[in-house]
Amino acid sequence: MEAIDYKNVTGLVHSTESFGAVDGPGIRFVVFMQGCHMRCQYCHNPDTWDLVNPAATERTAEDVLNEAIRYKGFWGKEGGITVSGGEATIQIDFLIALFSLAKEKGIHTTLDTCALTFRNTPKYLEKYAKLMEVTDLVLLDIKEMNPDQHRFVTGHSNKTILECARYLSDIGKPVWIRHVLVPNLTDRDEDLIELGKFVKTLDNVERFEVLPYHNLGEFKWRELGRPYPLEGTKPPTRARVENAKELMDTESYQEYLNRVRGN
Ligand code: SF4
Repeated sequence: MEAIDYKNVTGLVHSTESFGAVDGPGIRFVVFMQGCHMRCQYCHNPDTWDLVNPAATERTAEDVLNEAIRYKGFWGKEGGITVSGGEATIQIDFLIALFSLAKEKGIHTTLDTCALTFRNTPKYLEKYAKLMEVTDLVLLDIKEMNPDQHRFVTGHSNKTILECARYLSDIGKPVWIRHVLVPNLTDRDEDLIELGKFVKTLDNVERFEVLPYHNLGEFKWRELGRPYPLEGTKPPTRARVENAKELMDTESYQEYLNRVRGN
């Protein structure tokens, strides 16, 4: 069989970050891919949404890998490459190529995904399994457990996202689940409890993180001429963050109610 020429597979790259400290273990080279179908109200990278963007660059997997390797000396034992977005899996062939080349060099690979593109079909799973073979860790965002609220927050159903979480559990792929906590949007007690319950059914979760909302991306919405849906929303207080962490660790909403009501 003819060997696949991973080096020359191209992807549309929005930008790169040399010293990422929050997108996986250790210090990481982060690749932000262009394109995302979600429309999260709190998105701080709306400039990555369009599938075609003249400001993005078509690059080969080899070119991106070579840029990453320049920073290898800073990675230590834990660091490596993270591919984020946008939604990176829209360009799954590029991810397979980049991560395959990285694994040949023993580099730790992390995929940061919202999993909207995931499909529980044999054809899609065949390709996704190839990606997982060369992916060491998945950072999976679960934006809302309540289907209606998820649609309100992102414009899409959470069905495929939860299916992806289940699939990753079934294959035993290490995952960090992340939930962005936005006041009055993704911090409803009952939804946080349901999220906590769901995550407890997964066997592969190494970390379960609350990421407090920030509005650092607001200026990008303005630059793009888009009204910012969360105008005036402040980051959650420390008490709300602690509340979320506590609720997501609660066995059931009823137990929680019983406890706060002193039953
Ligand atoms: S999935 Fe990520 S990039 Fe896409 S809209 Fe949501 S926050 Fe933005």
